[in-house]
Amino acid sequence: MLTFYIFLYIKASFFAYSLANTMLLLLTYSFMFFFTLLLISPLHIVSDQAFAQPATKIAIKNHNIQSFINAGRGTKMLGIAQFKRYLTRFGYLPRYNNNNNNNKTFTDEFDAKFEVGLIRYQQRLGLQVTGKLDSNTVSQMMIPRCGVPDTTTHNHHHITKHFMYFPGKPRWSRPIPRTLTYAFSPVNMIHSLTMLEIREAFQRAFFNWASVIPVNFVEAEDYGFAEIKIGFYIGEHGDGEPFDGVLGVLAHSFSPESGRLHLDAAETWAVDFGVTKSKVAVDLESVATHEIGHILGLSHSSVKEAVMYPSLRARDKRANLNIDDIKGVQSLYGSNPNFRSGWLLQSDFSANQAAQFGVQPFMLATAFIIFSITHTLCASLS
Ligand SMILES: [Zn+2]
Ligand SMILES: [Zn+2]
Repeated sequence: MLTFYIFLYIKASFFAYSLANTMLLLLTYSFMFFFTLLLISPLHIVSDQAFAQPATKIAIKNHNIQSFINAGRGTKMLGIAQFKRYLTRFGYLPRYNNNNNNNKTFTDEFDAKFEVGLIRYQQRLGLQVTGKLDSNTVSQMMIPRCGVPDTTTHNHHHITKHFMYFPGKPRWSRPIPRTLTYAFSPVNMIHSLTMLEIREAFQRAFFNWASVIPVNFVEAEDYGFAEIKIGFYIGEHGDGEPFDGVLGVLAHSFSPESGRLHLDAAETWAVDFGVTKSKVAVDLESVATHEIGHILGLSHSSVKEAVMYPSLRARDKRANLNIDDIKGVQSLYGSNPNFRSGWLLQSDFSANQAAQFGVQPFMLATAFIIFSITHTLCASLS
């Protein structure tokens, strides 16, 4: 009997030992398995971070501007691909359905389609139309700009040099006088400027438009219910239009009645260039005014002085509405009754005439005074 118990004890302890051994072995194998997985596929582990990485830089890189001047239809030249990507991104060459045109591979061939896109770009941006990658065109592509594509008319031979709308001319349909509410994202903000500085820059930007059209803009407390939603974002942020880091694309927004206004959080946003000394500083009020123009229904203008012109250099300010911006937005919403510069809305030709008429009465009055003095002198002498 005792022998049996001893046998049972030995058997049980052996079983426990082998069980512990097996578990240890399993643990070792699973550790090795995960370690190998970590080594062979690091992308799986960092995929969350990759989502927040800035997308491909879209702006044309700084290189020898003159080197593309001789490129023409039929030629092949290293670097043409980046211009094709640029023109596709901003609406001058057809986009593809995969919605990932940044990663599409473009050829370096200067083909006929590319030439058509280039000509459209030159017409739309108010450049000299050469159909070539001349230095003015390449320089223009290097200036930071808005991410909203430049909508072009189908008949590209008749592009007029002024303001434009989005296809279908969408606008906010609210009874007059309209009030639109706006709010800042409670999450997606920047910290290089104070909330007060950001708020004041946007107040000025909204006022620029409110002073010419019968629309009021009021800051709402509840972001969720605000009609215009403002936020700063990095890289890919869920709307298929990723931001690209410092300069390049500065901001984008959507046509009515979307109300989404997005700014690239990677920019050095400034409200005072005296304080923000950075070479890559971007004026917040200028960009905010431009983007509110889109929110209201204006597309890009080909007038270089207009707020709605698509590009803005670093450290440049263009926040005052041009007559072209005013004409554009007033044709969507009508004029603000307090907007007194009504004469500005006549064509530039009649504005010039008004200036000439202003001179004529002054000259007539001078002639009359000279005549009166001469007449009095003559009368007293005779
Ligand atoms: Zn724009
Ligand atoms: Zn966006």
